[in-house]
Amino acid sequence: MTDVIKIAYLYEDLMNTYGDSGDVKILSYLLKQQGYTTQVDDVSIDTPEFDAQDYDFLFFGGGQDFEQTVIAKDLLRHKQTVADYIEAGKPMLAICGGYQLLGDYYETSAGTTIKGLGILPLHTIFKADARMIGDTEFETEWGTVKAFENHSGRTYFDDKDKLQPLGKMVTGYGNNPEDGVEGMRYKGTIGSYSHGPLLKNLNLAKVLAKQIIANHTARLAADPA
Ligand code: GLN
Repeated sequence: MTDVIKIAYLYEDLMNTYGDSGDVKILSYLLKQQGYTTQVDDVSIDTPEFDAQDYDFLFFGGGQDFEQTVIAKDLLRHKQTVADYIEAGKPMLAICGGYQLLGDYYETSAGTTIKGLGILPLHTIFKADARMIGDTEFETEWGTVKAFENHSGRTYFDDKDKLQPLGKMVTGYGNNPEDGVEGMRYKGTIGSYSHGPLLKNLNLAKVLAKQIIANHTARLAADPA
């Protein structure tokens, strides 16, 4: 069974308002083409402690403020294992609400502040005046990406040396209306505001699939059981 790629989908049941499960489907398809099968585990509120190191890829999709508030407390259970996974440079993709919750906090539409995982030095603030919604286009290291954004949260990096943007905006807002950039990269982790889903951009999906296979191979070599 060495060819089963294990994906942990954080709060799949609650954080999938915007169809981001499509990212996991596209990756599963690409991995299947290369001879792998995928096992996708929903890590949610009733899931006992999970060890991120048992997985080849972590995915965290978008959700509305309501769902983000529902999962916020539970999420902190996983802080250490997710932080260790990210620091080890393993591949993770977090979209919109999930991206926001990798940071320190999110000030919501209800005026409450949700504590994020606090793994990445960024924070997000809700602004009622203009929801950022519409088609986007941005340039990344791996080429042009076209997607769709739908958020009120504005994300700001608190350590611009540590975090890199995923791309430079051509059309749309991205992280916020001021910085002209979309998403975030830190080691093997990508955060992005892009729905659509993001990985319909196969240039990006293929890079991720490659990283996932490399991580899978390394995981099995370290623990052949
Ligand atoms: N609720 C968050 C916001 O509006 C995230 C939305 C999303 O995941 N698309 O900013």
